[in-house]
Amino acid sequence: MSKKIVILGAGESGTGAALLAKAKGFEVFVSDQGTIKENYKRELEVLKIPFEEGVHTADRILAADLIIKSPGIPDKAEVIRQAKAKSIEVIDELEFGFRHLTGKVIAITGTNGKTTTTLLTFHLLKAAGFNVALAGNVGESLARKVATAAHDWYVIEISSFQLDGTTTFRPEIGILTNITPDHLDRYEYKLENYVNSKFRLVSSMTAQNKFIYYKDDAIVGAEISKRTVAPIKVPVSLTDYTCPIHFDGTKMVFQFGADVFMLSQAETTLKGPHNLINTMAAVSAVYLAGASVSSIKAGLSTFKNAPHRLETIAIIDGVEFVNDSKATNVDSVVYALGSYTQPLIWIAGGIDKGNDYSLIKQDVQQKVKTLICLGKDNQKLKTFFEHVVPEIKETQTVKELVRLAMESARKGDVVLLSPACASFDLFKNYEDRGNQFRDAVLELKKELETT
Ligand code: ADP
Repeated sequence: MSKKIVILGAGESGTGAALLAKAKGFEVFVSDQGTIKENYKRELEVLKIPFEEGVHTADRILAADLIIKSPGIPDKAEVIRQAKAKSIEVIDELEFGFRHLTGKVIAITGTNGKTTTTLLTFHLLKAAGFNVALAGNVGESLARKVATAAHDWYVIEISSFQLDGTTTFRPEIGILTNITPDHLDRYEYKLENYVNSKFRLVSSMTAQNKFIYYKDDAIVGAEISKRTVAPIKVPVSLTDYTCPIHFDGTKMVFQFGADVFMLSQAETTLKGPHNLINTMAAVSAVYLAGASVSSIKAGLSTFKNAPHRLETIAIIDGVEFVNDSKATNVDSVVYALGSYTQPLIWIAGGIDKGNDYSLIKQDVQQKVKTLICLGKDNQKLKTFFEHVVPEIKETQTVKELVRLAMESARKGDVVLLSPACASFDLFKNYEDRGNQFRDAVLELKKELETT
């Protein structure tokens, strides 16, 4: 009799896991307590995979030999507690996908920079001619990728929630971009729990694997010095010239044994100090995977990052409009501000997750001539920056926002939407905020060009 697998949650990861389980010949049942999106339902129906929605039928779930849960379902959930009490193994889709793949994995995690580093790593491997798949938080689930085709390499973006559900997951190369306090609500407000979750990345890795990390990060640096980490360490630094991979003030220097090469940021399509870190990490991973330096250089010059990350939308009368809507915490804004030397019209605001603005006070004082608050409640921002920036404006519509920005801007200035906050007060999500901003900027450009 085939092994029974029950999948809890039928989003991208649950459906991907169902496809893989079916392809591997398991008996599969999918249970989602909410409603399942039409496209996923159709996929399950086509493959004749039984499912239920709006309910978890305990008897059926607890008859499983293995349960694969969506990373959104916490261990504390009743059904998970019951399963564990019956000694049923409970894993996440990422772990399940990993158990069934035959290629090698490059896994990327960190509080910020995951998507950029993942997309860049994938792009560089593809440009070098590797048979590579992109999976995880960006795009499709790993299980779906494993179910549909065999690849030599899988480049996977992983959140801490996904890492929580891994046991044997062992990337060939792991990248940790940084750790700053975030999502602490999921970790009993203990930074230590969040840090432990991120370090699960290396927990199954062996001395044959490689671990690339940003050593200047205060938390990562401190953790590395007190933890035993099995894989070969490949630290990356913006400041330490003795580090084999570092930025020397002009160039990124890569030293792998006797092999040394350098790259300047002008050879890449990315801006800012944070992207030096991301680039050094991605290039190191790809080099260690076997790509040539010439293919890496070619790939760097054709990379296009995902939208909403320091995305230049238009230049209107010499004023550059930049969409960094993905910057939903202060740490990202530190890097956004550090990416420009021009005077800034800075747009910030939304739902504040306990922001400490003192981290950016000095940069704001030096560079920002106008702050435009874009949120329902802007009091905290206004109070903090009252005596820091010469001008503060406020609005709740994007149409008015771009006009206010244009009024304050002079030729050579940059209008930077880098909000430091979540978007849910006025928008559906950060993509919606960035898309509305992009539309309004392009609209303004059209209007000014025709008058
Ligand atoms: P993630 O997927 O981890 O959210 P992204 O690449 O989407 O990361 O970038 C999210 C935000 O973080 C962007 O606003 C970007 O400017 C900023 N950022 C990107 N890389 C880094 C980094 N290495 N350190 C700090 N901030 C970064």
